[in-house]
Amino acid sequence: MRAWVLNEANGPESFTLQEVPTPEPGPGEVRIRLEVSALNHLDLWVSRGMPAPHEFPHIAGADGTGVIDAIGAEVTTVAVGDTMTINPSMSCGQCQVCLAGSTPFCRSYSILGEHSNGTLAEFAVVPARNVVARPSGITTVEAGSYGLAYGTAMRMLRRTGLESGDVLLVVGIGGGVSAAAQLIGQAMGANVFVTSRSVDKIARAIEMGAAGGFDSGGEFARDLKRALGRGADVVIENVGPATWNQSIRSLEAGGRLAICGSTSGPKVEISVPYLFFKQLEIIGSTMFDHAEFDRVTRLIGSGAVPVVVDSVYEFEDLPDAIARLDSGDQRGKVAIRHG
Ligand SMILES: [Zn+2]
Repeated sequence: MRAWVLNEANGPESFTLQEVPTPEPGPGEVRIRLEVSALNHLDLWVSRGMPAPHEFPHIAGADGTGVIDAIGAEVTTVAVGDTMTINPSMSCGQCQVCLAGSTPFCRSYSILGEHSNGTLAEFAVVPARNVVARPSGITTVEAGSYGLAYGTAMRMLRRTGLESGDVLLVVGIGGGVSAAAQLIGQAMGANVFVTSRSVDKIARAIEMGAAGGFDSGGEFARDLKRALGRGADVVIENVGPATWNQSIRSLEAGGRLAICGSTSGPKVEISVPYLFFKQLEIIGSTMFDHAEFDRVTRLIGSGAVPVVVDSVYEFEDLPDAIARLDSGDQRGKVAIRHG
């Protein structure tokens, strides 16, 4: 099959289109002939060796949708010809935490395209438990684009206990996870505000239903409280030190902050008295379990949550798609159409 492989991890220019053996599904696995995949910043990080693939050649790509064209032994839940979307959150499926449903806590936890070969190829092999029926009522491009970002946002919001009527502040709108957090938060009935350094990105978020937006580089805790007369019940963060103090100060007493990334650096300071007097909760979050993926798939399939796609590139034009993602200018997912 044809695949965009990494034979080294020296950055995005390391992606090379070449022929590789078509993978065969083992017991409990299915092979998907991909119709659409989508990029995530994870793919850029992997191409830069952060983290380095376990072995070369490596196929990146976490998101995708397509048709099952082969199944391994013991697969009873799906059949050849089924159209499916891939859940890229992989675990052993057999340990106690997996059986209890908490797959991100599995000791063998991995992400499709990071630790194992992913979707930037004609075919991908995944465990049968890692595919869900493609939602009807959305396009193939949308179905192939939502996986990692929307699943990650879903888990963050669930873990904060967000309820209808809550004030949700999404810090650093523009990335895939933060955009998804805005849209899922709105579908859950929250009153959603955003921050960004970009006036355009704030305007776009308001077009998509946000109640307002503030400059990430300013005192957005004060701005939010002035605009609303109160702070946020929930803050979604992925920026880290550059916005941390403002994010914490944006919270009402009893508020929850969930963080899934730290693009501005690894360390922050916390005022411990402020933390306990205000009875705040700080929640680290990464990826998602099967129930969270199913829930976000249902929200998308029902039309309650739109999948925002920035652009669609042909498979052969992957380097252009990577450049689009790396530019930071995209407004939504960058998708790849597989012939
Ligand atoms: Zn496990």
